[in-house]
Amino acid sequence: MHLSRLLFKTQKHDPTEAELASHRLLLRAGYIRRMGAGAYVLTPLACRALRRLEDLVRQKMESLGGQEILFPIVLPMPHEEAVTDLVGAMVDSYRQLPLVVYGIQSALRQEDRPRGGLLYPRQSVVKTAYSFHAAEDDLQDLLMTVRDMYERVFAELSLPVLKVRSDPKNADKPSAYAFYFLTPHGEDSALTCPACGYAADQKMAQAVKGGGKCSGEEGELEERHTPGCETIADLCQYLGCTPRQTLKSVFFMADEQPVLALIRGDLDVNPHKLSKILGTDVQTLSAEEAERFGLSVGYTGPVGLRTAAPPLLVADDSVPECGPLVTGANRPGYHLTGVRYGRDFTADLIGDIALAEAGQPCIKCGAALEAHRGVEIAAVARLDSKYSAGMNALFTDEEGTSHPLLMGSYGMDLTRVLACIVEHHHDEQGIVWPPAIAPYPCHLITVGKKEHVRAAADELYQALGENKVLFDDRPTSAGVKFMDADLLGMPVRITVGDRSLAAGGAELVCRRTGRTETVALAQVPEAVDHMLNASTTDRSD
Ligand SMILES: [Zn+2]
Repeated sequence: MHLSRLLFKTQKHDPTEAELASHRLLLRAGYIRRMGAGAYVLTPLACRALRRLEDLVRQKMESLGGQEILFPIVLPMPHEEAVTDLVGAMVDSYRQLPLVVYGIQSALRQEDRPRGGLLYPRQSVVKTAYSFHAAEDDLQDLLMTVRDMYERVFAELSLPVLKVRSDPKNADKPSAYAFYFLTPHGEDSALTCPACGYAADQKMAQAVKGGGKCSGEEGELEERHTPGCETIADLCQYLGCTPRQTLKSVFFMADEQPVLALIRGDLDVNPHKLSKILGTDVQTLSAEEAERFGLSVGYTGPVGLRTAAPPLLVADDSVPECGPLVTGANRPGYHLTGVRYGRDFTADLIGDIALAEAGQPCIKCGAALEAHRGVEIAAVARLDSKYSAGMNALFTDEEGTSHPLLMGSYGMDLTRVLACIVEHHHDEQGIVWPPAIAPYPCHLITVGKKEHVRAAADELYQALGENKVLFDDRPTSAGVKFMDADLLGMPVRITVGDRSLAAGGAELVCRRTGRTETVALAQVPEAVDHMLNASTTDRSD
C-alpha cells in the first residue's frame, strides 16, 4: 500500500479528550475517528488489524470444527436464545452432535458511560460461539479446549491476560472462566491468591469468612437505646462490640419483591451472588425508597420487622453459626442485643452472599487475597440445559429418549482486544503492533528524492508484495516520515537512502527493540521474516 493513496492522517499532538494510551494513540495515529459518544469509525489501517484478528480467531474456531453463522443485528431475543432456537429446530439426534457454531459481527453494548475509545465503546465486533452436546463430559472437554485455545491466542498476540474462574460457585469442576487484561482503567475486578494461584472474578470470588461462633454465651434479647448509631462503626463504639458481633441488614428489590439481605457487620453483601441465589437481578434500595417501605434506615433488623410488604429474608451462610448479635430494632434510635439465629429469627434463604475482598484469607489455602482491576476481553462458560430445557431444544439418544441439548458459550470481544493490544504495546513515540495483527508487517521509507533511491524502494515494494508493506512515498521530509512510522507502529521499518545504499542496501529497524541491521536489497524479504519472528518469539513481557 502506498501511503500517498491511503486514507489516513496523523496528528502532531495528543488529543485532549483521551486519557487512556490506546484511545490517545489510536486517535493520534488516525486509526479511529469519533462520530459520537462511544461511536468510532475504524479507518483502513485499523480495519486491517481487526481483520487479521478476526482471521486468527476464525481459523482457531474452524480448527475446532466450528461452523460460521451470521445473526441478524435486529435480534428480538438474546443470542443464547436465538442459537438455541436455531439448533433446536435443525438438530434431532445425538448423531448430529457435538456441534459448534460461531459468529463474528458487530454488537451493541449497553454502555451507560462509553469511554476510553475502543475499550468501552457502544459497539464492538465480537466473536460469539456456542457448542451443543449429548454428553456432559464432552461439553466439559470442549470448555477446557476453548479455554486453552484462548490462552494460546493471547500468547500469539503477546497480550498478557489474567485467567479467572467466574463460576457462580467455585466448585471443583470448573464451569466458567473469564479473561482479563489488567489495567487500572478497567471496570472489572478479580481476586488472586499469590500462594496457591486461586484467581476469581470478584463478583463470584469466595474467601474464608472466619469467626465461627462469635461467643457461646446464651444472651437474653434486650432492646438498647442507641442514639445516633446509624453506622456499624458508631454502633460498635457505642456498645463496645466488634463489627463481627453485629448483623447488617441491606435492602434490595428483586422484581417487585423487597429482599432483606442479612450479613455479619464485618462483611459486605455481593449483589451478584444475591442475584444468583434469587435467580433474578437485584437493585439496591435508596434511603428514600426504603422509608417508603416503612423501614428505619440504620435501625432495620430481622426481628420484629413490620412492613407493608414483608421482605424475603436472605442470610449469608455465616449468619446462622454466629451470635449473639446486635441488630437494628426497627425503631429509630434502638438496637437489639443478644439476637440469635434460629431462636429470634430465621431466613427464607441461606447462601454465600458475601463480597470477597483483598486481604481476606484465600478459600483454598488461607493466604491473603490480592485485588486487581481489569477489563474482561473473553469468557467461556457452561450453559448446560439452561436455555434448551425451557425452549424445548431436544435431541434423542441411542435409545430414542429425548433430552435437552447441553450447551456451552464462548465469547471474545475483538474490538476490545485490539484496544488492549495498543494499551499494552506502545511507547512514547507511538503504537508497537505485535506482528500477529499488525496492519502491515513493514513500513518502507525513502530518504531523499533521488531517482535511484526511489527505484531501489520500488524494487523492494515489488519483492515484498503490496500486502506486506506500507510504502511512505509522500514527497515529505524524512523527519515527518520517521515520526509517522513510529506513531503508526508497523513491526519493521525499512529505510532506503543514499546512506543505506552506500552501506550495502536497506536499513531494517525492529520497531519494538530498536535493533538495526543493514542488508542487501535482495536479502530484505528474508531478513524481514527473520526480524518478525525474532520480534514475536523473544518477547519476555
Ligand atoms: Zn490460596
